[in-house]
Amino acid sequence: MQKLVAIKGMNDILPPDSARWEWLEDKVRNLMARYAYRNIRTPIVEPTPLFVRGLGEVTDIVEKEMYSFEDRLNGEHLTLRPEATAGVVRAVAEHSMLYDGGKRLYYMGPMFRHERPQRGRYRQFHQIGAEALGFPGAEVDAELILMANALWRELGLQNVRLELNSLGQPQERQAHRAALIAYLEQHVDVLDEEARRRLHSNPLRILDTKNPAMQAVVEAAPRLIDFLGAQSLAHFDTVKSILTANGVAWTVNPRLVRGMDYYNLTVFEFVTDQLGSQGTICGGGRYDYLIEQIGGKPAPAVGWALGVERVLELLKEQESAVPALVPDVYAVIPSTAALPVAAATLERLRQAGVRVQMHAAPAGSEGMGSMKSQFKKADASGALWALIFGEDELARGSVVVKSLRDGAGAQSERLLDALADWAPTLQSPR
Ligand code: ATP
Ligand code: MG
Repeated sequence: MQKLVAIKGMNDILPPDSARWEWLEDKVRNLMARYAYRNIRTPIVEPTPLFVRGLGEVTDIVEKEMYSFEDRLNGEHLTLRPEATAGVVRAVAEHSMLYDGGKRLYYMGPMFRHERPQRGRYRQFHQIGAEALGFPGAEVDAELILMANALWRELGLQNVRLELNSLGQPQERQAHRAALIAYLEQHVDVLDEEARRRLHSNPLRILDTKNPAMQAVVEAAPRLIDFLGAQSLAHFDTVKSILTANGVAWTVNPRLVRGMDYYNLTVFEFVTDQLGSQGTICGGGRYDYLIEQIGGKPAPAVGWALGVERVLELLKEQESAVPALVPDVYAVIPSTAALPVAAATLERLRQAGVRVQMHAAPAGSEGMGSMKSQFKKADASGALWALIFGEDELARGSVVVKSLRDGAGAQSERLLDALADWAPTLQSPR
């Protein structure tokens, strides 16, 4: 029979690698609590119009990256979420979550984009994102950036730089857009096919091009920042000065425009040079008009999303050590007769907080398997201790504890009745 395999660009996350994911997720939960961001979980499938309206019709995502399909039963147009901001905003509006003031939210989960799979770019990938809705001030933009920065610090990530830009307000963008189109029209011979197509639909995105032949023209193009009014500039200045006061280095990248249409004012990206061309590990910005755009009551908002795979790849690249998940104890069980007492003892140890891996009979073995093979498994498990449920000791109401690492081989007998006293000594620091 033909072997069934996962869909191209969609990965299984297997142990021991999955421990790195859990470690990262724990760090994030802990961090979010310290910044008072609360967890939100929205569906993975949403109505297609949510993304078409929310992200903008002429974005890469909506034009070519969405997994969209028709529900076979009722013909509804559905899409696997390519990002989570639109869903969060839908949920916030649907449940009138802003009725009593702003909300700080975060999420983690899989996203889906039909892209060409390569290092740091997958078709199912994972984002962790934070959104602050209902707050108009620059202090919240800065808070979100400080929070991401704190995460890099706590993960031990290095060589991540912060790029900032301001996209101003719609009116300012309109004026810039007119100037930009007029300028690009003068250089239409240099523009590639995609740029020509976007010239009148989404000229700002042309500035984001990676085509080397267009760099000179793009660099000399009218800059949005020169079209910003006093209020927009003041907002941007506040963000910058809060960051500076907190020792966070930043540079302004006037060409930073981000993929989605919905941004205004502050936009930012955290970038590294250590992941090849997939160097953006986190991106975000303000999106004060999105809620209204998808039919909610107007409210300001700002957020970011990071790519979990890219962050973990960067950690690996930097050979940053992530604590391995190993049991404290491996339980060696010589005969099936010992199973009831052994299992009950292991349950008590686990209740006391000890990590216990019980030996289980391997396929094709007689009974529990030889002592030699059990000790081999105990060693491979990484446990510090073996607990040996030998017949003679059990008859005396005790069990043997044997060290597998420091002073390997040293062993002593422990009374099962006194388990509460010795259980804590088996627990390695965490
Ligand atoms: P890129 O320019 O690399 O395509 P993007 O602007 O499309 O990124 P966002 O939509 O801002 O990315 O998503 C936020 C983060 O999610 C990115 O900075 C990146 O770390 C991650 N990301 C985006 N697309 C993918 C993907 N296909 N595979 C893995 N990670 C991704
Ligand atoms: Mg993209």
